[in-house]
Parts: sequence; C-alpha cells; structure tokens
Amino acid sequence: MFDTAKNYTDIRDAIAKLCAQFPGEYWRKLDREMAYPTTFIEALTTDGWLSVLIPEEYGGSGLPLSAAAAVLEEMQRAGCNGAACHAQIYTMGTILRHGSDAQKQQYLPSIADGTLRLQAFGVTEPTSGTDTGALRTTAKVDGDDFVINGQKIWTSRAEHSDLMMLLARTTPLTDGMKKTQGLSVILVDLRDAVGNGLTIKPIKTMMNHATTEVFFDNLRVPTSNLIGEEGKGFKYILTGMNAERILIAAECIGDAKWFIDKAVNYAGERTVFDRPIGQNQGIQFPLAKAYANMRAAELMVNDALALYESGVNPGAEANMAKMLAADASFEAANACIQTHGGFGFAEEYDIERKFRETRLYQVAPISTNLILSYLSEHVLGLPRSY
Ligand SMILES: Cc1cc2nc3c(=O)[nH]c(=O)nc-3n(C[C@H](O)[C@H](O)[C@H](O)COP(=O)(O)OP(=O)(O)OC[C@H]3O[C@@H](n4cnc5c(N)ncnc54)[C@H](O)[C@@H]3O)c2cc1C
Repeated sequence: MFDTAKNYTDIRDAIAKLCAQFPGEYWRKLDREMAYPTTFIEALTTDGWLSVLIPEEYGGSGLPLSAAAAVLEEMQRAGCNGAACHAQIYTMGTILRHGSDAQKQQYLPSIADGTLRLQAFGVTEPTSGTDTGALRTTAKVDGDDFVINGQKIWTSRAEHSDLMMLLARTTPLTDGMKKTQGLSVILVDLRDAVGNGLTIKPIKTMMNHATTEVFFDNLRVPTSNLIGEEGKGFKYILTGMNAERILIAAECIGDAKWFIDKAVNYAGERTVFDRPIGQNQGIQFPLAKAYANMRAAELMVNDALALYESGVNPGAEANMAKMLAADASFEAANACIQTHGGFGFAEEYDIERKFRETRLYQVAPISTNLILSYLSEHVLGLPRSY
C-alpha cells in the first residue's frame, strides 16, 4: 500500500521472501504451544541475516546498524516475530567493542556462522528492576574462576542460547562509590553451566517470548571470560543498549506498518450498511493518525541510526526512537483491532497475537517512564527524580 523505505531494497526483498515461508499458521501454532521458532531461526542463520553486524574478518557481512534495522523491520512487517532472534544480531557487539583479540577470534566466527548462539542477556533482577546499579548477583574471584551467586529474571532465550552475556557485581559497593561502578560483563557458557550451578526456569507470559528466570548457585566461570575491564560493565552494557533500542524501534515500525496495512485492506473490503467500513471517517481517522505517528517515529529511528553510524552514541535519539516507535506500533495495533471489530479477536487473523507481542515494547527493554526520566534529566536539564 505504501512504501516509505527507500534503502536496502535488496535486503528487504530477501527478508520478505524468506518470511513468506513462515505465514500466520506457523506463528499461531508456536503461540498455542509456546514453542520456539527453530526453523525460522535456522532459515535466517543459513542465509546470514543474523550476522549482518559482524565484521567480514570474523565471517559476518560487516554491514552498518541501518542494515540490521532493515532486516528486523521487514521481519515484523511480514507478520513474523523477530524477538526470537534479534539478540543474536546485536548482543555480540559487547565482545566486538570491548573483548580481547583472543575473545573475538574465539567467539565471533562461530556466532557469525550460527554454530554458537549468543542471544541471552542477563541484566534485570527481581529485586532491583530498572535500578541496574542495585543488582545483587555477585561474581567473586577464586583462583582462575569467578564464583557467581544470585538471580536474574526475564532472561529471554536462555534455553535457546549457548552463551549468556551476564552483568554481575565484581567489586562490593562501598561508601562514596557510584552504584554503577564495580559491575562487570562476564560471558557464561550455558552448555557447561546448566546443572553445574546454573538453573533456568521458563516464565509463562502473555505472548510467546521464551523468557526465563536464571539462578546462580556457586557457578564457576573462568576469569578469562571477563569482557573488557573489571568494574566497567555498566558502561559497556549501556553502549550496547542504544543499538538495541534503535533496532527494537525499527521492529516496532515494522509492526505498525503490518497493522496499518492489515486494517486498511480490511476497511476497504468489509461492507456494513451497504458500504465499506473504510468510508466512515470514524474508521479512517484512527488509521490516518496511526500512520502519521508511525511516520514521525520512523524519522526519529532514521535520525538515531544516522547519528549512531556517524560514531556518536545517541542516548537521547535512541531512547526517543524506541518510545515513539513503541507508542506508534501499539496505537496502530489498537486501531487495527478496532477496525476489525469482533474478527480482531479471532486467532486466525493474527492481530490479537501481534497486539500482544508489540505491547511488550512499551515496557522492555526499557519502560516509557524511564525514557521520559532520561529525557527530563539529560536533555532538558531538570533535577533527577530518583
Ligand atoms: C518479555 C520480557 C522479556 C525481557 N527480556 C529481558 C532480557 O532478555 N534481559 C534482561 O536483562 N531483561 C529483560 N526484560 C526485562 C525488562 O527490561 C524490564 O522488565 C524493564 O526494563 C522494566 O523493569 P522491571 O520489570 O523491573 O520494572 P520496575 O523497574 O519494577 O518498574 C515497574 C514500573 O515502575 C516504573 N518506574 C520504576 N521506577 C520509576 C521511576 N523512578 N520513575 C517513574 N517510573 C518508574 C517503570 O517505568 C515501570 O513501569 C524483559 C522483560 C519482559 C517482560
């Protein structure tokens, strides 16, 4: 119906073709069974779409962030769910930016060819929540190992990942120390860890998201798995988070386009009172508004991408892109359900599934309130509220 995407036409066409092999019935069945989309992930891996950001010297395609955004946007636009694999695209960025040469050689080629899955990211904890500096999971050095104790929550895809990027406290908090100091990033090999000090428990959620709780009980991990410098983990994770926020914003744009397309098509076809429902302004206006808001959010995503690719780490733009795009996708989802009337609630239309899936992004990976707090403090210069 509309095509605002002017770039990466070849990538977008290829993703659309791949996604056509995974239609609504595929996702509905997985949703009913709360199962992982293994064949979808395998197809993306085989065609190299999950390694677009890995430099060519390590076996990836070495493309910029905007290419990954095009991949993820197009997946969502086709009605698929990129949440099952998006972390495989960007989590490796922490190794790429802060890992040693040996770590890059050891991990990146296998992540690029898909033999190693790095798609679990353990930051959030049940007690600390958004207050990352207050996390309680500790990693204490004992000989050549870290001994890790604590708990993570909402660690998505842990059951479908070989490695987990973990943020843990390696230096105890002392008076005068900033809460965000003393945290480190440690790569945990889940293949060795499960059953040897690490337990994963799935959490059932309103959408099919493969998310879990992870418990650490004297788990031993070699100290050589520390990424970058001890105590600087919060900074490293934050850098990666901006890329994640921009990519998730691109996914939301894809969702919004899917909802608007679906609703516009239906509004043109469905006849009630002897005329298409789309002739009524009560149906048109919510869709027109959702479209305008999607386009505005898309401009912010493009701005954030351009800044990121120019070498700055655009905290404000990444956050605004994520917030505006998540709001736009949910507005479009709501208008789409309303346009479909009762049929919007029927499983076979895929709308209720996508509605549940896209709702997440107003909460994760960062909630709207925290984005507004960030903008208030860091952009507007207002006093810190917490
Ligand atoms: C399906 C799913 C998958 C996830 N996957 C991952 C993952 O893979 N890895 C990972 O580490 N985490 C993951 N998360 C966690 C996610 O990032 C957090 O849920 C999110 O950041 C919000 O944190 P919280 O749930 O602890 O909420 P809380 O911090 O408890 O906040 C609850 C509410 O209070 C608000 N609030 C809190 N403090 C303030 C304040 N000062 N001012 C105004 N409002 C405030 C928040 O905005 C929120 O609305 C996932 C979450 C979900 C639901």
